[in-house]
Amino acid sequence: YKVPKAVNEPVLAYGKGSKERESLLAMYKKMYNEKADIPLYIGSEQIKTGDTVSMHPPHDHQHELGVFHKADKKHIEKAIDTALEARKKWAKMPWESRAAIFLKAADLLVGPYRDRMNAATMLAQSKNMMQTEIDAVCELADFFRFNVEFMSQIYADQPISVEGIWNRMQYRPLEGFVYAVTPFNFTSIAANLPAAPAMMGNVVVWKPAETQVYSAQVIMEIFMEAGVPPGVINMVTGKSSMITDIVMNHKDFSGIHFTGSTPVFNSFWETIGNNIKKGLYRSYPRIVGETGGKDFVWMHHTADAKAVATALTRGAFEFQGQKCSAASRAYIPKSKWADVRKFMEADLKSIKMGSPENPENFVNAVIDKRAFDKLCGYIDQAKKDKDAEVIIGGNYDGSKGYFIEPTVILAKTPKYETMCTELFGPVLTVYVYEDKDWKEILEIMDQTSIYALTGAIFSQDRYVIDYATDALENSAGNFYINDKPTGAVVGQQPFGGARGSGTNDKAGSVWNLLRWISNRTIKENF
Ligand code: GLU
Repeated sequence: YKVPKAVNEPVLAYGKGSKERESLLAMYKKMYNEKADIPLYIGSEQIKTGDTVSMHPPHDHQHELGVFHKADKKHIEKAIDTALEARKKWAKMPWESRAAIFLKAADLLVGPYRDRMNAATMLAQSKNMMQTEIDAVCELADFFRFNVEFMSQIYADQPISVEGIWNRMQYRPLEGFVYAVTPFNFTSIAANLPAAPAMMGNVVVWKPAETQVYSAQVIMEIFMEAGVPPGVINMVTGKSSMITDIVMNHKDFSGIHFTGSTPVFNSFWETIGNNIKKGLYRSYPRIVGETGGKDFVWMHHTADAKAVATALTRGAFEFQGQKCSAASRAYIPKSKWADVRKFMEADLKSIKMGSPENPENFVNAVIDKRAFDKLCGYIDQAKKDKDAEVIIGGNYDGSKGYFIEPTVILAKTPKYETMCTELFGPVLTVYVYEDKDWKEILEIMDQTSIYALTGAIFSQDRYVIDYATDALENSAGNFYINDKPTGAVVGQQPFGGARGSGTNDKAGSVWNLLRWISNRTIKENF
């Protein structure tokens, strides 16, 4: 069961004057000026319904990138029927053949599709070259390749047999189809959520976020060229509630692979629970989701102020803070605060904000007007509140693109609203505590938010590190010691959180893939 050994795809540098930078920029310009017309992908058909939604780059919202077509009820029903038909062959295909398809997808992505995938993510999600290269190319190729390796490990595992008895484990996909609902903020996640169940032999109805459809189309092109048979992954776009309603109220619905908000995830459990009550499904659907985060950085007075400041600047503001893992609340001891603040101010002063085609722009636009208005609302509120002070940034301008300056709010109480609520944008809230209260503050941190996705602690004292690691045992599924809480690498730091952050099934891991199979144990006597 040996498969090609997975290694992390090297990140290209896109240095000034380099061939790769020129080639990507040329693709960006070309795609900027083309008008995309994105169909539904159902089986081998590409359906243009005529009911369209326009797409705009977040950093240039008056420009139209083109349109995507919206499904109506009958298209969703057709997507489900088509998936179930495709399942007949796909579920029986040798796993090596499925593996080969996804290994080819990885090669296409890092090869001929690299520029197109990156340019699409820059345009649709306003990521700069480095951000998109890390997300849409390297992380996605890693998901495909590492998952193939994990899959081979799963299939290799067989129970023991004894004399006269042959025991076998038959690895089978779920009976029915899987629904993948994917977010705008990571192209790699958007592709991995349909790909992981498909790899394990399942068929999928995939609904990407509206603000991500533009780059999702490129993923669909790669799937098709790699040889994913028609009907195995069907991409449908349109009104989310209508699509989810039809999919989850179908008797053959067998699982959801989700990344998105906690309230939406909660509503899925409710619908699924009600349908179980009614006896609609044959099996219990698998519910796998990664939702929100309110990720912390905690500093002990033994830690290095510069290292903490860098972790905060990168952890909070890279990717415009639009990461579930972004640092969004920091706890800094009083004796170190002046230094941390000074280093952060210096870091942030040199940061440039603007359009993603200029790689010097560290901060680009937030995804859409709704996100922009919500974030600006929190910033304005903090400017007025007596319990808060905006100490860095705080300006915004939505005239051409949805630009918000990296903003730091100083909270006077550890339960100030922006210390507790997920904002999903370039806003960090800091609380300064008395050095001697470091143990109490850990307790408060653990109880501050409903989430438990990522978190980071900084200290040079081993006793303190161990104490904090233990005190925060349930506070973060990805826990970083002396590093920022973002940037998990596939194969190195499997990613996911518990509590309000999801089912903690760790994207890009054996544990995730195991959710997409329903095994049969066979005992045979001779
Ligand atoms: N895996 C990413 C990280 O470690 C975050 C993914 C997300 O935002 O959902 O930073």
